Amino acid sequence: MNRLDGREISKALTLFADLVIVGSGPAGAAAAWQATKRGASVVVLESGHWLEPADAKLTTFSAMSETYRGMGASVILGDRWQLAPVPTLQGQLVGGSSPINGAICWRMPKDVYAEWLAADPVLEEALPWGLLEQLTDAVETRLGVEPTHADVAGPKNSLMAKGAEVLGLEHRPIRRNVQGCVGSGRCIHGCPKGAKSSVDRTLLADAMERGATVLSSTEVKRIVVERGRAVAVEGKTRAGGRVRVAAKQAVIVAASAVQSPVLLLESGLKHGPVGRHFQCHPGVSMAGRFAEPVRMWEGATQGHEIIGLRHEGLKFEALGFGLAVLAGRLAGVGRELSAGIGELAHWLDWGVAVRAEAEGRVRSVFGRPVVTYLPTARDVRLFRRGLRVLGEVMFAAGATEVEPGVKGFDRRVTDGDALSRLERSGPERAGAYTSAITHMFGTCRMGSDVESCVVRPDFRHHTVESLYVADSSVFPTNLGVNPQIPIMALASLCAMRATGFTEVHS
Ligand SMILES: Cc1cc2nc3c(=O)[nH]c(=O)nc-3n(C[C@H](O)[C@H](O)[C@H](O)COP(=O)(O)OP(=O)(O)OC[C@H]3O[C@@H](n4cnc5c(N)ncnc54)[C@H](O)[C@@H]3O)c2cc1C
Repeated sequence: MNRLDGREISKALTLFADLVIVGSGPAGAAAAWQATKRGASVVVLESGHWLEPADAKLTTFSAMSETYRGMGASVILGDRWQLAPVPTLQGQLVGGSSPINGAICWRMPKDVYAEWLAADPVLEEALPWGLLEQLTDAVETRLGVEPTHADVAGPKNSLMAKGAEVLGLEHRPIRRNVQGCVGSGRCIHGCPKGAKSSVDRTLLADAMERGATVLSSTEVKRIVVERGRAVAVEGKTRAGGRVRVAAKQAVIVAASAVQSPVLLLESGLKHGPVGRHFQCHPGVSMAGRFAEPVRMWEGATQGHEIIGLRHEGLKFEALGFGLAVLAGRLAGVGRELSAGIGELAHWLDWGVAVRAEAEGRVRSVFGRPVVTYLPTARDVRLFRRGLRVLGEVMFAAGATEVEPGVKGFDRRVTDGDALSRLERSGPERAGAYTSAITHMFGTCRMGSDVESCVVRPDFRHHTVESLYVADSSVFPTNLGVNPQIPIMALASLCAMRATGFTEVHS
């Protein structure tokens, strides 16, 4: 009864709960997890479907079309002077992006937290560091977060360790939310072995055991506000049934930093900078060729990272994706292309996530998000610096040549001089760089100032009672690290605020 599938519901449906949560990703699942620990009744509405390990897709195309929002093709547009389309990847599943993400876990960095307090000291009381740490511990324990084991790392991860060691850069095995990973290398298609402790299999499953209902394949269209209070949400199932879920206590919006502002705007809730201050971590990547086969598709998808330049806004990660994506870098047709395909076992791809300063905007166009975003000149300098370092690590690890993937620059590079030239005088246009975005923030910013923030420091909307926003749209800034664990910790706190509890339940 507590798993309702909108693909099978074509008639009108009305439900009631203490808390109604929109979105079942890390934010929504963590909010449901905390709220049900406190005895609240919860209904979670999710526009995506459940993904079982047996349904994990073998091909990149089918994974993208069945598990990613907009088939993974949603693009950020740049601005009208400089069109620079960049894919923004988001899962559309029960569990949000969690079932198809890289499983990298970082705790909230204390230096970023300090920046938030410096900008708005009221946050210190609202988000006490000790409480955030306790909530983070609880989430990490439930998800079984641990460093990647050497026996599942594979060459793409161990070579990054080797290169970083040679250059004296701080590096480490990535901490991940996996249990019994065998290094299938397919995290971003959904784990075929069910080894990822994604939130659908952990936090949400626990919440359902405690009575929460999850209504999947159902899109929320509107938050219903009466006399200044959020009292319900309305939506539509995939089979066409109209749904209304009434909230006795509160509505928690956890639809992501892209979809949450759109839902507020579509509900006529235009107070504050809703949709503005969009921030992210653009990721640029580089391919490297090694004399020995490195079989990038084997081993933990993302098992190693270089963290020594985080203070510059750069974090380097080994990447793992299907051959179809790697093959996207190949040039030519006919014999040239088939020779390239024959060589793929020798190539691997690593990325650098940039803590960009640029701010963009999410608008609602016919109820769909359109994001405009353009990295600043300083951000593009960081792309260049990040690529140079990536190339140097690859050479230090034994690569014979690298491909920076930068339009207007050498396609293949075989020495460090060309890498320094890339950093010094590479293209200044953001659109010249091969990039993608998977971490997004800031579009319903939290803070004490009623004019410049959408929600209060306790996650409550500034002008609508009983309405909370729980996801990374409330983050005052981006983090410079992978956000899923901080999102879960803050969403847990949001649920505590919404249910009126102050003590952490283990
Ligand atoms: C390919 C990829 C790899 C990543 N790797 C990592 C990683 O290794 N480590 C890390 O920390 N982070 C990673 N991330 C980012 C991380 O997964 C996200 O930051 C996180 O999932 C965001 O959580 P969320 O709950 O805010 O949003 P989401 O995970 O996007 O969940 C929001 C959910 O709300 C649903 N929804 C939206 N609108 C509505 C509506 N109107 N009605 C009903 N439902 C709605 C969506 O379908 C979605 O399921 C990755 C992301 C991607 C895409």
